[in-house]
This record gives sequence, C-alpha cells and structure tokens, in this order.
Amino acid sequence: MACEHGELVRTVRLASEAFVLVRSGRPEQEALARFTELPRVAAALSLDTPFILSSRLMTDLSTRVVIRPDLEVGGEEFVVMAGPCAVETDEQVRGTARSVRESGARVLRGGAFKPRTSPFSFQGHRLAGLEILQRAGQEAGLPIVSEVMATQDLDEVVQSVDILQVGMRNALNYSLLTAIGRHPGRPPVLLKRGVGSTLDELLCAADYVLQGGNPNVLLCLRGTLNGLGHSRASLNIADIPALRRLTHLPIIVDPSHAAGRRDLVPAMSQAALVAGADGLLVEVHIKPEEALVDGPQSLTPHGFASMMQRLRDLSRVMGRTMHSDREPEESSEPEHPSHTYGNLQV
Ligand code: PEP
Ligand code: MN
Repeated sequence: MACEHGELVRTVRLASEAFVLVRSGRPEQEALARFTELPRVAAALSLDTPFILSSRLMTDLSTRVVIRPDLEVGGEEFVVMAGPCAVETDEQVRGTARSVRESGARVLRGGAFKPRTSPFSFQGHRLAGLEILQRAGQEAGLPIVSEVMATQDLDEVVQSVDILQVGMRNALNYSLLTAIGRHPGRPPVLLKRGVGSTLDELLCAADYVLQGGNPNVLLCLRGTLNGLGHSRASLNIADIPALRRLTHLPIIVDPSHAAGRRDLVPAMSQAALVAGADGLLVEVHIKPEEALVDGPQSLTPHGFASMMQRLRDLSRVMGRTMHSDREPEESSEPEHPSHTYGNLQV
C-alpha cells in the first residue's frame, strides 16, 4: 500500500480485520486517519518499534492476565510464584508447596521438563513430574506454573498446568511461540527473556503469542549475560520501568536465576517490587543442599517467609496489595477473557 509521505507501511492481519502501521516516519494525523476509512481497517498507528501487539500504543489499559477467578496478574496485587527449580519427589514438592502457601505465595512453580546445559544432568521427570506438581498444587490450593520445552509436548503440558513457562533457552523459538499463541486453550504464558535478548526481542517474542490470538502473556525478566559482577546473570532494574513504558503486558521478575545465590534474592525481590514489577518467580526448596538443580540459589522455606514479610511491608508503601494465607479454595476452571486491541477483539 502506498503512502504519500513515503513511509514504510505494513499491515497486520488479525481475525478478519487489519491494522495499518506506518513506521519510520512521523505521518500527520490526517494521513493516518485516511487509512481507517478503508474497509476492515481497525486502526492506523505510527510505530517506531519492531514489536506491535505488545506495544503500549495498542491499548491504554494494562493487561490483566486471569489465572483463576480469584487471581490475576497485572492488577494491584503483587503476585509471588514460588517453588523448587525442578520437581524431584512427591515429598519435596508437597512440603515446599505447603510452606510457600503459608508465606503468601499465590502460584506453585516446579520444572518437570528441565532444559539443562549438559545432556548428562538431571532432565526432569517430564509428565510424571507434572503429575506430582498437579497433586501438590491441588493439595495446597495453588495454581501451578511449569515449563514447556517442545511443541510436541504442548497439549499435554497445557492440560496439566495453569501457566505455561517458556524458558530463556526457548525465548527465540518462534515455532513454539506460534504454537502457544494458536493454542485454543489460550493458556497464560510466562515468557522469559533470552539470556542475550534485548527488550525489543522479548516483546517481539510476545508478539508471536499475541498474534495467534492468545492475549495472556506475562513477561519475565531473569537477567542477561554477565561477566562483571558476582551474580549469575545481570538484572538491570531500569528494564522494569522501561518495559512498563513500552508495553501493556504484566512484568514478572525472576531474582533466583538472575542472582544465582540465595543471599542476593531478597534484595533483588525488593528492588523489583519498588521498581514496579507485578510479581516474582522465586525458587524455594525444603532442603536446598540436596536439590538436584539450582540449590545454591533456592531459598529455604524460612528464608522465603522472612522475605515475604519484608515484601508485604514494602507493598503497602508502594500502593500494592499482597495476599495473606487463607484456607485453600476449591479450584475452578479458569476463564481467559478475550482481549481488545484498539477496536479489535482477538
Ligand atoms: C527455571 O525457571 O528453572 C529456568 C530454567 O529458568 P531460565 O529459563 O530462566 O533459565
Ligand atoms: Mn532453576
């Protein structure tokens, strides 16, 4: 499509409608308005960024991702997800689940499919691990988040979990992201930033999911390549307010993989809350010294409890709420509402 001012024009097609996007230029409002008069054009926007659907320009509203009827991420509540790096045993996950719930965690984490650098390291219990996690989540009354590594496992993982995790190693796996976006269950997705990815690349990865019609994306900062400090990765706190300006999607921080050491996790969690994150993903293990994966960065239940107390105090100052433990509720089927971009529902 031609544009008189010579700017590059792209169209994005969603459902039966299209957006017209004018990039690399500052077209006049009238020029943009003319596009909206064309049939089936929902909106015309000028964007200088490579990401589109995740852009703040698409909607004034911040996206709230509904996990359960009583739990959404991206609203007032600061939502903490906690649990072991890997699902190891029934006893380990159930014990951790009980203790993190008592401290106010809202989601139980645990890896069943583990992406490991070495093929000789523990790879996770896979589907059997998901069953352990599901039982522990049900017993504790907590929804669960777990990683999906491959497209061929997607259906089974979606059936078992409340939130799909896409790990740092798959942050640029566009066929997996596309499949998640198109999955009819519209599962909430916790999308981690690649270890060497820019924020633009993270938001483009989110666009792959959004483009398929799944609006339930949570962005997760977990630190990028490092070399200068004493932590495992570099978590740039400035990325939190920067993302807030760039996108309408909720922002989660994973201080455990960023730090690589449990003693740094509480301070990083506090910094994340103060900088405006919507929640945390934290590793906790009942016996970190016996953990098969990521023991050194896993908090003990006691360490987690004191960190949560501190965060609760801070959340009041920051105008956020935090959950207090109560009796587990009957779990019910999640309802994932559709989402509106401009005039367009996907
Ligand atoms: C994890 O959450 O245990 C994990 C493997 O994370 P990441 O993909 O960020 O390394
Ligand atoms: Mn881990």
